[in-house]
This record gives sequence, structure tokens and C-alpha cells, in this order.
Amino acid sequence: MLIKILGSAAGGGFPQWNCNCRNCRSLRDGTFKGKPRTQTQVAICQDNRAWFLLNASPDLRTQIEATPVLHPRNHGRNSPIGGVLLTSGDIDQIAGLLSLRELQPFPIYCTPSIRRILQEDNSMFAMLNRVPGQVSWTDISCDGSFCLQGDRGVGIDCRVFSLGSRFPAYVSPDRSLALKQEDALLGVIASSSADRHMAYMPAVPDVDDSLLEQLEETDLLLFDGTFWSDDELIRVQGSGSTAGEMGHIPVSGAEGSLRKLAGLRRPRKVFVHINNTNPMLDETGTEYAQVRAAGWEVAEDGWSLDL
Ligand SMILES: [Zn+2]
Repeated sequence: MLIKILGSAAGGGFPQWNCNCRNCRSLRDGTFKGKPRTQTQVAICQDNRAWFLLNASPDLRTQIEATPVLHPRNHGRNSPIGGVLLTSGDIDQIAGLLSLRELQPFPIYCTPSIRRILQEDNSMFAMLNRVPGQVSWTDISCDGSFCLQGDRGVGIDCRVFSLGSRFPAYVSPDRSLALKQEDALLGVIASSSADRHMAYMPAVPDVDDSLLEQLEETDLLLFDGTFWSDDELIRVQGSGSTAGEMGHIPVSGAEGSLRKLAGLRRPRKVFVHINNTNPMLDETGTEYAQVRAAGWEVAEDGWSLDL
């Protein structure tokens, strides 16, 4: 299974348009020792033909153009993109669907609650079903297995499980209560034909024993690296929410992912969905050194991995 990391930043990207934090400012003035990043986007392929997108980032159009294997291969209108799997309804995971509205048929796999939010509450997404045979919506259980298949090529076996009950802020509290809470946020384990397993989870509120057990069976882990510390945004902005309140386990600290996942020996461990404020983006900093010393990598746009 081929895995392409098309984007590795959290929502807003790096630099973020309205941010002048130390990272964003020094990236703009050319003194930052690290890479700019587009918003997190991953694509996977088992057969060199059909590629499946894990979520659809707001930067999807430029990410596709930057990735030749995702370009049309035949005359006229066509695409090697065989489908999209959504793990949540967050804007930085779904907005890219609007960049795929040019009458191309492809399946979207998501939980019934996420489908209802997009189809029933957000009329712009009706552009994905403007003509018959355009996008097909495939409901998946928040705790089960299915095959990313599309209409051609070799499918990719996936298992998903609920990671949280928090729907995006644009979903009203009343609407949230009418939806199935476990549908809000999924973790995915995709299996290659060589029986190797990749876990994809760009948003993880917390790590418990059952999650640890599942991750112990994987070979590659693409994990939530949004915030270094719980109060990171508050310190940068002067106000706001903690990482925990936003549904992200921080990387550092007693309750952070470095510590909680320290015992994981089998998978290659890679942070994705890194916020522009996160000090581990600076490759000369102590935070980056700490992450690397703990056996983790910090994903960059354009990386290709193989399982
Ligand atoms: Zn910033």
C-alpha cells in the first residue's frame, strides 16, 4: 500500500493567514528552520490505479496538482481518485469536497451522522449530487469493517472505531443531540495486501488502554500532533480553548501522547495535523529534538510511505 502525505498541518495551515506567532512570523521572514505545510491530507493506494483520499482538506486542489499520480491519466475528464473516506465533519477535513464538485463520480464513505450534517444541513454539498451518477454516499458504522472499493481496482480493507463524541462547532447543540454521538470522530486502520496496517487519526481526544491495544497491532501510525502543550493557543492568542477542549491530546506533558504512546514498539510513529503554533515544527528546537529522540517523526508535505 502506498501512502502519500499531501498535507501535514492542522486547520489554517502553516503559516496561517491571520497568525503572526513566532513560527508563522519567522517562516514568512525566511528565518524559520522548518517547512511550510498545507492542511492535513493523506491519500492511499493498493494497486497503483485507484487512490483513496482520507478526508478532503481545504487545500485539496493544490495538493492534487502537486502530486502527479493523482492527475487524470486518460483523455478528457477522469481521475485516479477512487473515493473519499471522512473521519469527521471538521471543516479542515471536509471543505475539500467542494473542490471535487466537477461532476466526477466517486464514493464518499462516512458515518450516517456526518452524511446527514453535510447533506441535510449544508446545502452547498448538494453540488456533489447535481447530476445522476455523480457522488455516491456510503454509510459506514462507527465501529466496524468495510472495503474502500470504488468502481475499479483493488479495494483497501479498513476498520474504523469511534474516538469521540464531539461534533464540529458549526453543528448546533440541538442538532448534535439528535445525532449518534459515536459517529462524530473516527480512527481508521487500513490494511495492505501484505497484511500490514496503518492507523490514521489526525484528531485524538485521549488515549485509553483499548486504543493502545489496537495501535500495538499496527505498522504505521499517523497520529494527532496538533498541539505541543494543552494551553498552547491560549498562550499565543491570550485567550481561547485548551487542546483538550478542542479534542486534541497534546504531544507533551504527563497526559501527552509522547508519554502515553511511549510503550508502543511496533509501529513507525509519525505526527500529522500539526498546528502552526506547535514548537516542534522548528527543526532546531528542543521540542523537535525531544520528539525525534522518542522515536517519532514529524510529517512533511510530499512524503511517500510504503506498507
Ligand atoms: Zn502561527
